[in-house]
Amino acid sequence: MTKTMLAAVLHGIKDLRVDERPVPDLEPGKALVRVRRGGICGSDVHYFEEGRFGSFAVTAPFVLGHEITGEVVAVADGVTQPPVGQRVVVNPSRQCGHCDYCRSGRGNLCRNVRMLGSASTKPPTNGGFSQYLLIGAEQCFPVPPQIDDGLGAMMEPFAVALHALKRVGSVAGKPVIVTGGGPIGLLTVIAARACGATTIAVSDPVAERRQMALQVGADSALDPTEASFKDQVTALTGDGFEILFEASGAVPALKQAFEVVRRGGTIVQIGVYSAPEISLPVNQLLVRELQFVGSFRYGNVWEEAIRLVASGRVNLRPLISRVLPLKQATEALQLACAKTGVVKVQIDLT
Ligand SMILES: [Zn+2]
Ligand SMILES: [Zn+2]
Repeated sequence: MTKTMLAAVLHGIKDLRVDERPVPDLEPGKALVRVRRGGICGSDVHYFEEGRFGSFAVTAPFVLGHEITGEVVAVADGVTQPPVGQRVVVNPSRQCGHCDYCRSGRGNLCRNVRMLGSASTKPPTNGGFSQYLLIGAEQCFPVPPQIDDGLGAMMEPFAVALHALKRVGSVAGKPVIVTGGGPIGLLTVIAARACGATTIAVSDPVAERRQMALQVGADSALDPTEASFKDQVTALTGDGFEILFEASGAVPALKQAFEVVRRGGTIVQIGVYSAPEISLPVNQLLVRELQFVGSFRYGNVWEEAIRLVASGRVNLRPLISRVLPLKQATEALQLACAKTGVVKVQIDLT
């Protein structure tokens, strides 16, 4: 096997280079994966454009990417699953498995978590936009042939959406609105539909994104900047939505959320804000008994996500807009930065 590989390394703001790096050596409990496809996430875009994502600032060059499909090419002694030759999707979040959160089933809050392609650690943890990836065998999920490389790389953001739904119990039979028609917002629409939400609305100021939301199964798409926005909400729901998924990370969307949700309703925060602090109409929380719930990455939703996609119950393919080869990684990131014209951009590493 070759000793070196190519990887998309972020050296500074808007400075992404395809560097040659050594192929990692096997370590106990790990699998070596030949990466086939990597999806560009909002976090990759933030690191690329701003050198930070929320409160995570980049402190050293690192490999981006955490939405990964690949093929297992070697495993450490004693590892039986996944077998060599198996095509897998990668759960980029490594949980320790023994802290109090892991043991209570909330592994996404693990005290010792490490996330691929993330500056949440110092130095940052390298990601999967590299030809080979060394990863915990337990972080690999086998995928059937009907989940091709492109769909496989959609599984991580889909897991984010499924986890957000779990945070509110059941959406079945409930009117739901998603604010923000980016990839995570659209995946939340798809997941909410699969889980039985009745009225599903999306709000986004960009017409093209509203159009896309309707295409992937939203019942209505609203422009939150229109004067008649609240009247439209009333016309759709009477009293407001029962559940709102805030997937935009835009301050006006969150402020408006408090007016759009009915008494006793729930706001689920999925989008990440660049602003460290935001003022909110907190008394609304009290007098209308709203719930304001955070949703961070995902828990044990991977197998469910894979079954939903493999069964054909949900179709994530319309969200894959462009696929570029690794050598055009910078162009791919620039494309993903655009708010229009694309939903999900992926990098082909085969
Ligand atoms: Zn992501
Ligand atoms: Zn843990």
